Amino acid sequence: MRTTKYVFVTGGVTSSLGKGIIAASLAKLLQERGYSVTIQKLDPYINIDPGTLNPYEHGECYVTDDGAETDLDLGHYERFLNIPTSQANNVTTGRIYQSVIDKERKGEFLGKTVQVIPHITDEIKRRIQILGNTGEYDIVITEIGGTVGDIESLPYVESVRQLLWELGEENAIVIHLTLIPFLAAAGELKTKPTQHSVKMLMQSGVSPDILVCRTEHELDDKLKAKLALFCNVKKEDVIESIDADTIYDVPLLMHEEGLDHVVLSKLKLSTEKQPELSKWNHFLKQHKNPCHEVEIGLIGKYVELHDSYKSITEALIHAGAVNEVKVNVKWIHSEELIPETIENELSGLHGILVAPGFGDRGIEGKIKAVQYARENNIPFFGICLGMQMAVIEFARNVLNLKDANSTEMDSNTSNPVIGLMEEQKEITKKGGTMRLGAWECQLQENSNVFKAYKALKISERHRHRYEFNNSYLEQMTEKGLQASGINPKTGLVEVVELPNHPWFVGVQYHPEYKSTVLNPHPLFVDFVKATLNYTQ
Ligand code: GLN
Repeated sequence: MRTTKYVFVTGGVTSSLGKGIIAASLAKLLQERGYSVTIQKLDPYINIDPGTLNPYEHGECYVTDDGAETDLDLGHYERFLNIPTSQANNVTTGRIYQSVIDKERKGEFLGKTVQVIPHITDEIKRRIQILGNTGEYDIVITEIGGTVGDIESLPYVESVRQLLWELGEENAIVIHLTLIPFLAAAGELKTKPTQHSVKMLMQSGVSPDILVCRTEHELDDKLKAKLALFCNVKKEDVIESIDADTIYDVPLLMHEEGLDHVVLSKLKLSTEKQPELSKWNHFLKQHKNPCHEVEIGLIGKYVELHDSYKSITEALIHAGAVNEVKVNVKWIHSEELIPETIENELSGLHGILVAPGFGDRGIEGKIKAVQYARENNIPFFGICLGMQMAVIEFARNVLNLKDANSTEMDSNTSNPVIGLMEEQKEITKKGGTMRLGAWECQLQENSNVFKAYKALKISERHRHRYEFNNSYLEQMTEKGLQASGINPKTGLVEVVELPNHPWFVGVQYHPEYKSTVLNPHPLFVDFVKATLNYTQ
């Protein structure tokens, strides 16, 4: 069994510095040097998982194969590393406390006072080491959510302190990600906030081994020397992270700055093999040198916060690169799509994507968008709720079932074309109770989806409660809606399409979760190709 080494990534000064991207970029470099790497995210909030959070709070909820509802950073990890993550890769304070409290109720601490230290910190340390203890990884990178100094981060920082001491300096290190602000009036980059955040870490007994400094301007030698002196690191351990054009440039920038080299040196691992980035570079070359341009309308109700659709927009980037197309996303709020605005909003688009979502806000706009795409032969991609809206639109406007709806939106509709499965009807609890994670799907050979996947059996990730109501299947098929993907276990319809349309596909699952840089998702690739054909 190998000895797993640990890299902890903490954040200072402010949130939103991109710890997830730095962690993923470092992991990519180490992976391409031949190390087996995974990344874990610790989130200091009390929710058990982000599944119950409104996307406006933390952006998209990302779903893994094993059905974990997780932080969107796990999406970056998968997109960069091209390997799946799981529940073990995302831990929240809620989950930590739940395990400790469950143990307490079982009497496992009988006679003892249960406390943050050692019980909560022990549980955090156990969760950090679960991935390492599988023996599968040379290096586990653990990203600590939040900002150093936050009250809720304290138990995590204390756990890191203990682990550093227990594992020894060759086996565990800390990267502190920080901001070097530029004061325009003074014309200067400022190091003081970083000095303070490092001081804050040190008060908790942790001194960073490496500083990664987010900045809008280059850090000169003098400034790096100053940071080194005041933050107790060597000058070569001060890594500049300058704003990049795309997140996919960050691994290259980090390599130029030597981040992977210093990490390996500190962990006493070989730096001999250089990262093999030819495939990555090929993607970047295509991404940056498109030959064509398309505009795709993304219809959703959380469009004010683009992070709510992170995996979708990244999947469009991957698919754009394959097709050598620049994909421009037009963000369209479904609530604003009314008969008076629809022509203005949607005409001129080369593709229409109706996004996932919950609840009835804005759904009539989504249905209108489906109708517009169907009637005007514009490539259409409906994902999860988007697929359900396509089914409702077809029922209302082709089958003439005017009140067709999903029982999520109207529990009294006389035509529930989308409804709850029997087992879902019993469920009253909200968290983790949807149909989640990977399910198999059987595709029909004479379909657009088969042409895209080039496979008859696929596996895709789900996150929804409502399903296509099979009592309408016959009517719908008769009128030209093809159920081209079926769940072989349950008989549920997972894909619908219109054979008499250039490209009209609705999927009950979330293909966006599985698109990576090195493995762009076939449906997104095919959709973007269809939008390109549409421009011609
Ligand atoms: N609200 C729908 C359902 O629960 C769709 C969910 C989604 O789009 N992820 O079935």
